[in-house]
Order: sequence, then structure tokens, then C-alpha cells
Amino acid sequence: MDHRDIWKEIELQDCPICGGPALLEEENGWCWYVTCADCGSHTVESPYKTEADALSAAQQAANLWNMGKVIKEQRAE
Ligand SMILES: [Zn+2]
Repeated sequence: MDHRDIWKEIELQDCPICGGPALLEEENGWCWYVTCADCGSHTVESPYKTEADALSAAQQAANLWNMGKVIKEQRAE
């Protein structure tokens, strides 16, 4: 599957921390994570080894996000 189609497949809810818009990000062709455009909270990385695994890895990251399993961005006071 083409990576551009993966972005179309993945459904993301708004940020569980602040309600901001979610972004599916790819890291150097080996993993996915979801991050919030507003507060920077993010999921853990969901790695994949082959193109065949890329969609399921992206769905895994999306599932973590949609369940609220996110790492809250620590901001300096
Ligand atoms: Zn947020």
C-alpha cells in the first residue's frame, strides 16, 4: 500500500489532553506516531520493518491515540 493511502485510512480523534488537532507522523521510514499540533502530546513510536507492516503499525499508533494512551508533553515552567 502506498503511504499516502495510509494517511487516508487512519481515523484520529482530537487530542485527549487539550482537544487539539491530531497529526499522524512518520519517522524516517521506520515508525509512526501521533502527535497533537497544539500541545505536543504524543504516542509512543509504532515501528515497522516492511511496507507490508506499515499500515498495521500506523493503525496501532492511531489506536493508542484514540484510547488516550498518550505521553503528555512536559513544558518548561
Ligand atoms: Zn493537545
